[in-house]
Amino acid sequence: MRGLLIGRYQPFHKGHLEVIKKILGEVDELIVGIGSAQISHTMENPFTAGERMTMISSVLNTNGLAGRCSYIIPINDVWNNAIWVRHVRSLTPRFDVVYTGNPLAKRLFIEEGIAVRTPVMFDRFRYSGTEIRRRIVQGADWESLVPEEVVRIVEEIGGVERIRDISKSDKITFLEPGDVSP
Ligand code: ATP
Ligand code: MG
Repeated sequence: MRGLLIGRYQPFHKGHLEVIKKILGEVDELIVGIGSAQISHTMENPFTAGERMTMISSVLNTNGLAGRCSYIIPINDVWNNAIWVRHVRSLTPRFDVVYTGNPLAKRLFIEEGIAVRTPVMFDRFRYSGTEIRRRIVQGADWESLVPEEVVRIVEEIGGVERIRDISKSDKITFLEPGDVSP
């Protein structure tokens, strides 16, 4: 049996690794789909699909999981929910079950008659891409939330500086009378 897990992995964190290990107890093979593959250099999606592929394959290799997760597939957005599942299927090997916690993705797969399972969440308050990006911007500890291969790759590609730069704005904030200047 083959499963599919779709995420944006911005970046790939320890929650993702744990969920993959858990899913591999239920399926023989797992396809890792990288969503919003065309987007990079934004606060929500700082890393390119290629960078995310490198993070994922390196973590899977180190953990001896690469053989059972041999397909890491970038999936661009199509901006048309009605055809999104067909788009995903056109890019991936055949799969029997989809793992997603996203309610919209779940709905779209169910409407196409595909089995959906909701993965359990591991320490969701810490192991979340949003929390990791926030910590990077604020200079807090983010390294403990991702596998060490991801720390190395983020550092190699200047990811911390990238996220801090794109979090800045060139807009002027006009103060109202009585406001205290930041
Ligand atoms: P973001 O905050 O940027 O949305 P995220 O942590 O939700 O990041 P995604 O790439 O959106 O990461 O995650 C894709 C899928 O990975 C989720 O739908 C969920 O099924 C799984 N996942 C994410 N975080 C965890 C976690 N802590 N434990 C288990 N599964 C997780
Ligand atoms: Mg998410």
